[in-house]
Amino acid sequence: MKKILTIVSIIVVLVVIYRVAINNHTVQDRLLDRAVTSMLPEPFLDDKDSLKAIVCGSRSPIFDVNRAETCIYIEAGDDVYLFDSGNDSTSNLQNWGIPWTNLKGVFYTHLHSDHIAELADVHLQSWIVGGRKEKLKVYGPKGVDLLTAGIEMAYSQDYIFRNKHHGESIASSDAAGFDTKAITENNKVVIDENGLKITSFEVLHYPVEPSLAFKIEYKGRSIIISGDTVFSDDLLQQSMNVDVLFHEVMNIGLLESMRKGAKAVGNDVIDIVLFDVQDYHIPVLEVVDIAKRANVGHLIFYHALPAPRNQIMEKIFYRDIDKDFQNWTASIDGTTVTLPVGSDEIILSLTE
Ligand SMILES: [Zn+2]
Ligand SMILES: [Zn+2]
Repeated sequence: MKKILTIVSIIVVLVVIYRVAINNHTVQDRLLDRAVTSMLPEPFLDDKDSLKAIVCGSRSPIFDVNRAETCIYIEAGDDVYLFDSGNDSTSNLQNWGIPWTNLKGVFYTHLHSDHIAELADVHLQSWIVGGRKEKLKVYGPKGVDLLTAGIEMAYSQDYIFRNKHHGESIASSDAAGFDTKAITENNKVVIDENGLKITSFEVLHYPVEPSLAFKIEYKGRSIIISGDTVFSDDLLQQSMNVDVLFHEVMNIGLLESMRKGAKAVGNDVIDIVLFDVQDYHIPVLEVVDIAKRANVGHLIFYHALPAPRNQIMEKIFYRDIDKDFQNWTASIDGTTVTLPVGSDEIILSLTE
């Protein structure tokens, strides 16, 4: 009893000290100094030469408060590229303090809203924070010029205001807007510089045509980003022996459960939409089959439909994968894979 009373007394004293301390201006100022310093970006680029990918958005359009829509950050040496920029993805990128100065361009797999939503924010961050001195390079399928022209028009006043307010050295008027490159040929090498090769090829996401996947090769290491697609023989061939395959995925059983729920409350729209999406995405086991046949080093699922909201839902989503196939990861926002140059290591970690 005496021991319990002593512990309670210590807790009460600590609470009183804490209450007094947080109301003291000197303590508040010191804590603020520390908090502000920790908000500034720390060095982000890998100091070792590597090809690295971070999932900056792991979900499909089905909402989840803990995940951003589709986005993959790629770092090849000191060059940074983004592949898609769905809703909330730039919050992740800002939170991690990515080096906007090193952003060389943005690639779009296709022009669905869950992939393109935050291009205006990527433009702003790379322009002001990154100090970009030329227009932002944007690569994508036919129609990507409509996206960039539309954003330029919508943000034309913002570009003028920021230039007037911050001046040419911070918000250069020449760098406001986009240098857009539509990819019109299949199997096109889009980037070939600094040891990095990025090749685009078409996948199958009808009626979204064309819809692209990308192969990223850097000094002997390789990554495929599937974009949105059903089974694609081209994608299978391109994936042969790559280190990492990022592939979209859906679980039909879970989508059907959601439809049942929608029907039960009379929500016909959700019921129909969740039926429609099933003809242009790919079930879990078909993705696993591609990874096995292509002998990929590691399979990372992203753009999960629906993205699992908890461990149980994740177990159900991926429950049918054979126990003999273990080289896979269900990504969340921040899932990171590093492929050091000159080795065959595949290092998985979490950026947060
Ligand atoms: Zn999508
Ligand atoms: Zn899509």
